[in-house]
Parts: sequence; structure tokens; C-alpha cells
Amino acid sequence: MSGKLDELMNLIRQVILGVAPINEKLKYRAIAVMIALVHLSYVAVFAFCKIEIMLQYNIGAVIYYLVMAVLVGRKEFQKTIFSTMLAEILLHSFLATIMLGFDWGFMLYTITLVPLIFYMCFTLSGTKTRLKIAVTLSMLVFVVYYVTLTASYRIDPLYIESVYSSVPRTMYYYNTVLAFVYCFIISVLFSIEVKYMRVTLENENLSLERDAKYDPLTKLYNRRSFNDYLRNAVEAAEKGEKDVSLIMLDIDDFKQVNDTYGHNQGDVVLKEVANVLRDNVREDDVVCRWGGEEMLILLDVSADVASRIAERIRRDVESLDMLCDGAHIKVTLTLGVAEYKGKLTLREFIEVVDKRLYYGKEHGKNMVVNS
Ligand code: GH3
Ligand code: MG
Ligand code: MG
Repeated sequence: MSGKLDELMNLIRQVILGVAPINEKLKYRAIAVMIALVHLSYVAVFAFCKIEIMLQYNIGAVIYYLVMAVLVGRKEFQKTIFSTMLAEILLHSFLATIMLGFDWGFMLYTITLVPLIFYMCFTLSGTKTRLKIAVTLSMLVFVVYYVTLTASYRIDPLYIESVYSSVPRTMYYYNTVLAFVYCFIISVLFSIEVKYMRVTLENENLSLERDAKYDPLTKLYNRRSFNDYLRNAVEAAEKGEKDVSLIMLDIDDFKQVNDTYGHNQGDVVLKEVANVLRDNVREDDVVCRWGGEEMLILLDVSADVASRIAERIRRDVESLDMLCDGAHIKVTLTLGVAEYKGKLTLREFIEVVDKRLYYGKEHGKNMVVNS
């Protein structure tokens, strides 16, 4: 029981923080039950005041909202609940005001319908012309309010004699409180849903940014983002601010790994190699999947240091023992190393390491070439 309560509290917390959506079914059910309870309180009031027609009306309303609370699980009923609720609140406010007078405060509810209309129009999915509908309905509410106000000043209330004089004032207080609570709940719901939309949008933006920067398989930087880092590093190297070196590496005979163990296992190998690279460089170094099974590392160190790092990577990968369906997969790397010297374009700089890598491939593979 306490586990379930914790779960519920956790969900409420997440909804308030905007990380979880409001449960639609629960929301409409709660709205229907709340309105049913309000009508139930009027049943008591009108029974006490012996106002038969309003009593009957409110008994009918209680039954209607309770039925709706059960049916609301189906999406098509959510719109029905909204439109009938709107019509019902308008009708009830109008009838109660004409029969009992304006000073009972039933017309207060019509004003609270305006935020409700906007909230519903903007949250009910599939509503295309939201603003137009919300503005039109709000104007309709205003017209009903105005007509009722005028009519109630011209027509004497029908039940004025039969009630105690303190009842209208008490009801005005009661309706005021309810109308405030009503406005408050709608505003809270609206702000929570706006927050959820904002959080969702921010997360989507973040993941789009991530997708644009990283390779989805290895989580290394992709070619495009690497070029940005390289450009900045080369600019700094030209100003003499730091050393800049590149290590380009390619998995040896990787086609054979794919052919022997399958493409999926080849992907696992790529991820494992990427992990070795990450483990061997510092946080500021940039490791990129340059394409296929070729990777490029940007480091702010001299050629000597870069060569030592490349050799360490070569040895670590060579000693990797990857277990796949009982088979031990082993791969090796060939690596080219170059330090940025003199005036080179980015492409020329990359060509230097590429040539060294190619030289290694031609001369036995599984080696580091730095000149
Ligand atoms: P070398 O030693 O000369 O580099 O030989 P190699 O077989 O590694 O080179 P080759 O260019 O002939 O083959 C590269 C292979 O890498 C072929 C391609 O299917 C595979 N490959 C490229 N990208 C991926 C990938 O994302 N996943 C997997 N599993 N394989 C990939
Ligand atoms: Mg290869
Ligand atoms: Mg290759």
C-alpha cells in the first residue's frame, strides 16, 4: 500500500516538474467527478430550499457527470464532456440566476469558463482551429452573461419568497470560493501542461543537437563536428598557442570480421575499439568516427607524445579479446600520426596522416607510422 502511495507521489512530482505527462483519462475523470460533487452540493441546497425544478436539474447533472466519469476513458468522450460541460454550466448559471436572482453568484461560473475554454481548446488533441474556437466560445459566454445580467434585473426572481434571507449571501460566498478554486485548478493544469511541452521540446532539441554532433553507433564525434574542432585547433597552432597532432587509424581486415562473424558483431567491435580510444585520450581530445572503420583523433600534443599514445592504443586493441557466441574476436589497427607544422589547409593536414596510415597498410598493418 505504501509502495503504491510512493509511486503515486512520485508520479505527481514528475508531472509537476514537467517530465511526465498528465494522465488524460485521470484528468477528465477527476474533472467530471468534481463537477458531479458540486452539483451534489446544490442538490442539498435546493432540497433544503425546496426549489423543485433546480433540485431535479441537479440530480440529473450528478448522474450525467458520474456516467461521463466512467465513459471518459474513451477519447471521443473527452470532447463530448467538454462541450456538454460548457453548455451545462452556462444553462445552470442562467436558470439559477433567472429563478433565484443575480445575488446568488451563479453567474461567477460563466466567467471561469473563459480560461477553461482556452485550456480545453489547446489541450484536446486534434483541435486545429484552436484559437478561433476558443475566442468564439468565450464571446458566446460573454453574451450569455450579459443577457442573463440584463434579464435578471428586469425579471423578478421566481423563488424569492420561499428561501431564508441568509441563503443567497451564503451561496454567493460558496460560489465565489468554488469559482476561485475552479480558476486555480485550470491555471495549474495549464501551466503544468505548458511546462511539460517545454521540457519535451528542450529534450528533443538536445537530442537533435546530439544527433547532429555524434556518431550514433560509437558515440564518437562525427565528421562534421570534428572539422569544427580541427579548424579551431589549427588556428591556435598557427598562432603558436599549442601543439596540434592527428592520429588516423583504421581497423585491419575489418571486412573479414564482418564476413566471419556478421555485421552486428562488426558493430560491437567498432564500439569496443571506440572505447579503447576514449580510454587512452584526455577529456579535451577529440575522437571522431571519420567513416566506416576509420577514426581520427585530434590532440594538443607534439608528434612524439601522439606517437606514444598511438602505440598504446595499438597495443590495447591488439590485446582486446572480444567474445562473440563462444568465438574470440581479435583485431588490430594501423595508425598514422602527424603534427601540424607550417601552413597547411585542413585537408592537406588530414592527407598527411592519411598517407602515413596508407603506408602502414601497405607495409604489414598493425603498426604506427609517424614519418
Ligand atoms: P584494411 O585492413 O585494408 O583496412 O581492410 P578492411 O577489410 O578493413 O577494409 P575494407 O575497406 O575492405 O573494408 C572495410 C569494411 O568495414 C567494409 C564495411 O562493410 C565495414 N564497415 C564499414 N562501416 C561499418 C559499420 O558501421 N559496421 C560494420 N559492422 N561494418 C562496417
Ligand atoms: Mg580497415
Ligand atoms: Mg577503411
